[in-house]
Amino acid sequence: MADAVIDLLKAHFRQLRLPTMSQEFEKLARDAAATNQNYFQFLLRLTELELGNRAANAIATRIKNAGFPVLKDFDTFDFSALPQLSKPKVLELARGEWIEYKYNCCLVGTQGTGKTHIAIALGQAACRQGLRVCFFTAAELVSQLEKAQKQYTLDKLLGQLERAHLLICDELGYVSFSRGGVELLFRVFGDRYERASLLVTSNLPFSDWGQIFQGERMTGALLDRLTHRCHIFEMNGESYRFRESMKSKKGRKSA
Ligand code: ADP
Ligand code: MG
Repeated sequence: MADAVIDLLKAHFRQLRLPTMSQEFEKLARDAAATNQNYFQFLLRLTELELGNRAANAIATRIKNAGFPVLKDFDTFDFSALPQLSKPKVLELARGEWIEYKYNCCLVGTQGTGKTHIAIALGQAACRQGLRVCFFTAAELVSQLEKAQKQYTLDKLLGQLERAHLLICDELGYVSFSRGGVELLFRVFGDRYERASLLVTSNLPFSDWGQIFQGERMTGALLDRLTHRCHIFEMNGESYRFRESMKSKKGRKSA
């Protein structure tokens, strides 16, 4: 086809913001001619490619905006290492209905058993379903809330958190907070009650949460709301990292 027509088409696609169609139309037109496809089939294929790419880009953007510290997925999680964790139940949650119903999820257990791994994998699954996710460690979240409060931008940050369909608060219990920090965290958790999902991971059993939230009343009220409509997974066991490093040490010795 004349170069001028191709150049014009490219300019039109650019103006219409259809980058994939712009990139693919020449090749697809050649394929269509070679395989006797009609105009409708050609257009269908071309528009499908644009839509497919848009969907993939939207997912990549949601995953980037979620702020995961690393990307971990279920395909690299060895469920046999933690027999008490029900694989079917976890994979059921990966389908995302719990977020639609504003349920919460708590992963509670000892260090290194894959709580963060599962939290990230569930978060990514939600991003793929078109949901907005925010990932923070509890320490990061409290520090950002305190900073925002000092800078008079707390409402803006709370608004951002509210817009997330799923807020992940990782590692609750590793560090304790000031009274003000606890109150802010309590407010964020309280705001989400029955309105949007919260996923919390903690190394502390619920009975010890008084240490984090300073005071029985506050802890009781918070646990009551958090666990009211909640999927709770106990993840206690030997640290996966530790076990893997022992295995490789043994491997090296016997080699
Ligand atoms: P936790 O948050 O419970 O302390 P992490 O999720 O950070 O534990 O896990 C520590 C490391 O071990 C991570 O690199 C994680 O990917 C890996 N890991 C933990 N459990 C498993 C598992 N069952 N299968 C594969 N990798 C795992
Ligand atoms: Mg962790």
